[in-house]
Amino acid sequence: MHISLPERSQTPLTDDQRRSFQQFIAALSPEQAAWVGGYLTGLVAKDSTFIPEIGGIADITILVGSQTGNSEALAEQTHRLAAGRGLKTVVKKMGDYKFQQLKAEKNLLVIVSTYGEGEPPDNAKELVEYLFSKRAPSLKQVQFAVLGLGDSSYEFFCKTAVDLDRRLEELGATRIHPRVDCDVDYESSAEAWMHGVLNELSILLETKPQAIGLSIPSLTSPSFYSRKNPFSALLLENIVLNGRGSLKETHHLELSLEGSGLTYEPGDVLGVYPANAPEVIDALLQTLHFDGTEWIALNDKDGFLYDLLFSHYEITTITRPVMQKYALLANNRKLDQLLRNKHKLNDYLHGREIIDLVADFPSEHLSPQAFVDCLRKLPPRLYSIASSLKQHPDEVHITVAAVRYHSHSRDRKGVGSTFLAERITEDATIPVYIDRNSNFKLPADPATPIIMIGPGTGIAPFRAFVEEREAMDAPGKNWLFFGGQHFETDFLYQAEWLRFLKNGVLTRMNVAFSRDQEQKIYVQHLMAEHGKELYAWLQEGAHIYVCGDEKRMAHDVHAALLNIVAAETGADSAEEYVANLQKTKRYQRDVY
Ligand code: NDP
Repeated sequence: MHISLPERSQTPLTDDQRRSFQQFIAALSPEQAAWVGGYLTGLVAKDSTFIPEIGGIADITILVGSQTGNSEALAEQTHRLAAGRGLKTVVKKMGDYKFQQLKAEKNLLVIVSTYGEGEPPDNAKELVEYLFSKRAPSLKQVQFAVLGLGDSSYEFFCKTAVDLDRRLEELGATRIHPRVDCDVDYESSAEAWMHGVLNELSILLETKPQAIGLSIPSLTSPSFYSRKNPFSALLLENIVLNGRGSLKETHHLELSLEGSGLTYEPGDVLGVYPANAPEVIDALLQTLHFDGTEWIALNDKDGFLYDLLFSHYEITTITRPVMQKYALLANNRKLDQLLRNKHKLNDYLHGREIIDLVADFPSEHLSPQAFVDCLRKLPPRLYSIASSLKQHPDEVHITVAAVRYHSHSRDRKGVGSTFLAERITEDATIPVYIDRNSNFKLPADPATPIIMIGPGTGIAPFRAFVEEREAMDAPGKNWLFFGGQHFETDFLYQAEWLRFLKNGVLTRMNVAFSRDQEQKIYVQHLMAEHGKELYAWLQEGAHIYVCGDEKRMAHDVHAALLNIVAAETGADSAEEYVANLQKTKRYQRDVY
């Protein structure tokens, strides 16, 4: 094929490399060239710390704030699409970004997620604070666009993106493309944003597409198993970890990745596409007076109503957009009033699901087609991986607590957790993919000590960490804090921890069983009890990790850590000390 490479100064290749590369590509058919492009993209993507920086000074900075890996993957995709248009971009993680650099930026693309109750990702917090502080510079010279990632079932949907979009404008920057707020099924809206933004930038920077007219394959291309194209993993084991009489039902699942080519590192996450529970679908159909055999036409999928409700649509969680769409159809004054009253709306949403919405505000002339048009796609569920590939080649393990509760006179169940706990049979295959999480990783140096805090299902990634350290014969010390309700029934993976303690892989383990005595004992109480040693480990360079419940546990553990440091350094320096741990990636969290 005919090609002309960019100028020597615009590539990182030596003269010899350029010559061989040119000869090599010239002999390829377009199909072969596309394959090679995809192969190299895949190789690079395997290195999760990869920051593409091609062709000297970039015209555009893509600033990415990511709690898990989604924003980073989208930043890389934007980078590749930009390269195909001859636009030079550099991707920077917010946590590594030098604030002084802002004054030098000309074109800034911000891709940022929001989690919990409207919070920025850990690695974005400092930059967000800086931008909202008095010290933030004028950004008159900057042209910008913002892409937000979030979950519309939360009240403060994409808040970090909304705030940054507004703040950049307040600082004088010019918006070149409207912000897009992506929900959990973000692919198509994110891609539309990328193309829109890159169209604007191509015009502004007067660039032409590169001489090689190949479309650069994205990470999500169908030739890789990915979020868009999940792998059907065979279920190998499904074991309940709790003893008889426990209030909890925590499952250990082992899945086969054989033949998928999928790999992962400790700290990565398994994405699982669940299906809804038949009894939940039946109850919903009954409430709506549909029978499930109605034929539904969709842009990307046609099918019977029942089948679409089974695996395509989310039929439990009510999000505000779903409610607004339904309200337009229902034409119900009470529902309209509810939507206008934020406090009453929050109260209503608590513990209710879509079946309550359609029962409480029936819509007389609702058609099956109009109903499904209100719904959000069923998003994949994410589970921290509980195994090391080094110890379990071609397998992935996860730890899942079945979520079941009763609210507003109905029994409820978590979609993903009960799908895995009760609805998959032996020899079933489950659609899965790997979600890389570069923000939850073992230290690069195996001699670095680590402190792990993981009550309940938060224990999962630490099983992977300790297995990995054992497999690598890592000399670093390992200290684990675990918590559960009762010693007898809730000591997850007890036999494995005892083995790790016996063979010395686990240096220390402290366990808090909250309900074995009158007063609750939680992991943070044990951290406080051993505060001096914990601080000494930190002074030795230990990395500290927290996994599990976000709403209460992670906040309390954070406060305990601050107190421990404050007892040694004084309250004023403690905040800075802990912030510095976060900035240097020595304090990492995987909380949900
Ligand atoms: P558990 O509910 O088994 O909790 C583990 C231990 O943490 C228990 O001893 C519990 O004590 C204790 N605990 C409770 N509050 C705190 C706190 N503020 N600080 C420290 N420890 C505390 O763990 P699970 O992992 O099963 O669930 C934890 C939370 O995560 C639940 O709220 C659950 O809804 C949520 N969650 C779980 C998912 C899953 O798949 N497991 C998915 C999404 C969310 P006690 O119970 O006695 O108060």
